[in-house]
Amino acid sequence: MNQSIPSSQSPMLFPAKDPSHRFGVAFDVEPYRGCPFGCLYCDSHNVLGPDESFSRVFARPDAIAAFSSELNAREPGTIVGFGKLFEPYPPLETKERVTRRLLEVIADAGAGVVIVTKSDLVAEDAALLRRIKAAAPAVVLMCITTLNEDVVKKLEPGCPTTAERFRAIAKLSSEGIVTGILMQPIVPFINDTEENIVGIVRKAKDAGCRFVYPSFGMNLAGRQRDRFFDLIDREFPRLKNVYMDQFGAKWSCQSKAAPALKKAFVFECRKLKLKYGMNDIVRLVRPTSTVQMKLF
Ligand code: SF4
Repeated sequence: MNQSIPSSQSPMLFPAKDPSHRFGVAFDVEPYRGCPFGCLYCDSHNVLGPDESFSRVFARPDAIAAFSSELNAREPGTIVGFGKLFEPYPPLETKERVTRRLLEVIADAGAGVVIVTKSDLVAEDAALLRRIKAAAPAVVLMCITTLNEDVVKKLEPGCPTTAERFRAIAKLSSEGIVTGILMQPIVPFINDTEENIVGIVRKAKDAGCRFVYPSFGMNLAGRQRDRFFDLIDREFPRLKNVYMDQFGAKWSCQSKAAPALKKAFVFECRKLKLKYGMNDIVRLVRPTSTVQMKLF
């Protein structure tokens, strides 16, 4: 678990194609490679080579020097993304603290941050996030897909519970950090109910979140496809055949209920005054931004 791999073999910095389409992030950093959380739908499996173990996590302390030079070459206030490919707060973070050390570099540089995570460990960095927020955006998106903890155990078996994730995000909200829920993926036949979608939106409001950003489908491409079908056969018997009947070889799988779910989602977000479109979220993250964006 505790090994470093040469940066030449695997980059840890990724420029964003278009910051206006992903929460204002200008470039991403990956403090760890691999992830132990084991989500059935994880498409980051396609990033690793066929012989690499995804659940074996490598810390990337080598990211820090490269990251500092990248950040110094950019304008103050540049927003750095965490969590694009791999979880930035795996259990190994409690020992290695690579994510925390990168956040310290960001705070010193007057840069901003958008963190996407499924881990409650992020709340331990609240003080550091407040330091970042004094000069630039500091935003945390907690990824939550279902309120049903039994489904969490099957769908995201290594992750903290949904309740733990909500507690962490509520703590950050109460400390003045801008928070949101990344509600994705909505997996056909598993978490695609109106009760679940509307329930997550309500709990987001209770946790002090300012927005919820959804995705009403799931992609099954590359190696991830075979892995998903193997695991779904084990965790949700009979669903594999249902998937085959409905989606065949398609890589994009959207719930048949998606139009009704979107309607209920938008209605609830408007009622509770939560942002949900990328355009509005980027304006919230970076109020001076004038970019043009799509709704979902
Ligand atoms: S937390 Fe993210 S990177 Fe880790 S297994 Fe789940 S989807 Fe993949």
